[in-house]
Amino acid sequence: MTAPLFTRVAIVGFGLIGSSIARCVAEYPGLAGDVVCIDRSQAVCDRVMELGLAATASPDPALAATADLVVLATPIGAFADLGAVICPHLKPGTILTDVGSVKQSVLRDIGPHVPEGVHFIPGHPLAGTEHSGPDAGFAALFKNRWCILTPPPGANPDAVEKLAAFWRGCGSQLEMMEPGHHDRVLAITSHLPHLIAYTIVGTATDLEDHLKSEVIRFSASGFRDFTRIAASDPVMWRDIFLNNREAVLEVIQRFTEDLTALQRAIRWGEGEKLEELFTRTRAIRRSIIDARQA
Ligand code: NAP
Repeated sequence: MTAPLFTRVAIVGFGLIGSSIARCVAEYPGLAGDVVCIDRSQAVCDRVMELGLAATASPDPALAATADLVVLATPIGAFADLGAVICPHLKPGTILTDVGSVKQSVLRDIGPHVPEGVHFIPGHPLAGTEHSGPDAGFAALFKNRWCILTPPPGANPDAVEKLAAFWRGCGSQLEMMEPGHHDRVLAITSHLPHLIAYTIVGTATDLEDHLKSEVIRFSASGFRDFTRIAASDPVMWRDIFLNNREAVLEVIQRFTEDLTALQRAIRWGEGEKLEELFTRTRAIRRSIIDARQA
């Protein structure tokens, strides 16, 4: 039997994403010898042991010294503090990565703490649900989904390939990107849609009581899909908007202009403009289905 890619994976922050990675290690052979959990919450550590998802679980950052792959999987707002407490324990040759949804801020917050000889390769699996915590994860989460790596200039190619092989072993398709480009792409594909969902559901919750109950009763006509997205973790999304500020503000600006143009077309009865846009957007949906990302 060939040796696994990694001897031990330490997962820091054992929620939806962290526990899904642990389940991949348990289910798919060849990824890692075992998994250890580092989570600030003792209740999460206890639950992880109950679920049998890690060899050991503790809030102690020193546990990271026993791993050759360390994955930061907390909300990104915790990264600056985490970098300071985790990095001093890492041994040379360790690969340090993360799963955060914004990539420039991760370089800014973790980069300065990374010791000589540790390979720091940020990453982002484009997979998730609106659920949180160690019970929410599942091994198939990353199957046929993209995982983007943003290796800094000069990153060790063997380490990058080893991490890529790990993610491929979890079922992902790999893409390399420059972090600024990643943040602009995600601002439009993920962050703006979440902001719109939060806004629509927020607007509905401000309605008068009789209208609000009708919204819930007839939600299947479109509103329901927004409520699923708007049920995503509040802390995680707060951190995403605060840490991808420029790119998000830029797409909000463009979105607002386009919305105003639509408002005008409706006001002036310009049906052909509406139809032309709705025809173009339908084509986008078809290409997503063709790319098997639906
Ligand atoms: P989650 O289910 O809420 O899990 C996060 C875990 O991290 C929780 O157990 C939390 O503990 C723990 N934690 C928070 N601060 C910590 C700290 N300072 N030290 C140690 N543990 C800490 O979150 P998730 O959905 O897995 O998301 C984790 C990361 O993945 C985020 O950076 C997010 O941007 C990224 N991501 C998420 C998705 C998605 O759809 N969910 C998709 C791709 C990437 P407490 O319960 O005590 O707070």
